[in-house]
Amino acid sequence: MALTTPPRPYDILAPFPELAAHSRSAVRLHPRLGNPGVDESSLGGPVLWPADEPWPTCDLEHEDCSDEPFDYVRAEREYLRDRDRRQEQGEKLDWEVERQRLHQLRLEHSSDYHPDYDEDAPQPLISVAQLYYRDVPGLPWPDRYDLLQVLWCPRDHPDCDTPWNPVFQLRWRRTEEVAERLNDPPLPVVCSGEYVPNVCVVNPEVVTEYPNAADLPDSLAKRIKEWAEKQNLSSAYNWNVAFAPGWKVMGHGGIWGIIDPYPILCDCGAEQLPLFTAPSGEFDGGTGSWQPIEEAGTGYSYSDPVEVTIGRGYTLQLYYCPESENHTGRTEMF
Ligand SMILES: [Zn+2]
Ligand SMILES: [Zn+2]
Repeated sequence: MALTTPPRPYDILAPFPELAAHSRSAVRLHPRLGNPGVDESSLGGPVLWPADEPWPTCDLEHEDCSDEPFDYVRAEREYLRDRDRRQEQGEKLDWEVERQRLHQLRLEHSSDYHPDYDEDAPQPLISVAQLYYRDVPGLPWPDRYDLLQVLWCPRDHPDCDTPWNPVFQLRWRRTEEVAERLNDPPLPVVCSGEYVPNVCVVNPEVVTEYPNAADLPDSLAKRIKEWAEKQNLSSAYNWNVAFAPGWKVMGHGGIWGIIDPYPILCDCGAEQLPLFTAPSGEFDGGTGSWQPIEEAGTGYSYSDPVEVTIGRGYTLQLYYCPESENHTGRTEMF
């Protein structure tokens, strides 16, 4: 289904036509709960993987404070969705019975049921996104690839590029080169539940984004700030015009709320660009103007279909080097 971003509350190019030169296209993914196949783009869904290629693993150190059995995370969410559904249909819930059901579910999915689990062995990654170029325009190197796969290790890593976050791995593919397919990729035994995406179909939509004010020429940034103050909303530019919230690829990225923006440089010296944005939800009270037209009036029903949480509701962004897909992409949280 097509999901469409409403026109922005402000026509920013009228007062600032020079902003057009700084614009970039981003693709909002608009994930919604679903049952995607391996030949479809998805978040958290099955991926097209060659049977003879090892499944990626993580051998970094993990911090285990918030880990849960992986099986339990999705089973619990399924149970909670079912419970909500029953309640909406008028069922009067016996909360003691529900509490026992949840307790039983936890017992059934305890990591104790994996006697072979070796916490020191490399841990399998999970699929975060599978993006076919036919669905997501603008992905890099379309002459060589037609599929981008984004995976991560769904645990906290104290010693990585962006500490206390999941760690990404990418695969750029040509689908015609995948002959025999891997059917049952390994799954982690334990994970941080906050990093497990619900299985979602995507509804990609191209939108226009503009840079952080801090990345614009000083005089333009100053005039935008003055303009925003006149709108009686200091965040009019950032929240309502410059950056689409939610899961997306490319574009300018997001509002840096924790640290000031800085150029993300590759080891080769090139500036890396936003590739994939993993947020903590699709929109919130400040970014409600981005709620799709087709879902107007649904409140917060579709504000967080993926149920990934980064830090205290932050955004994790993966960058790529335009010089080569073999240069390690960097991450930043804001
Ligand atoms: Zn890991
Ligand atoms: Zn590079």
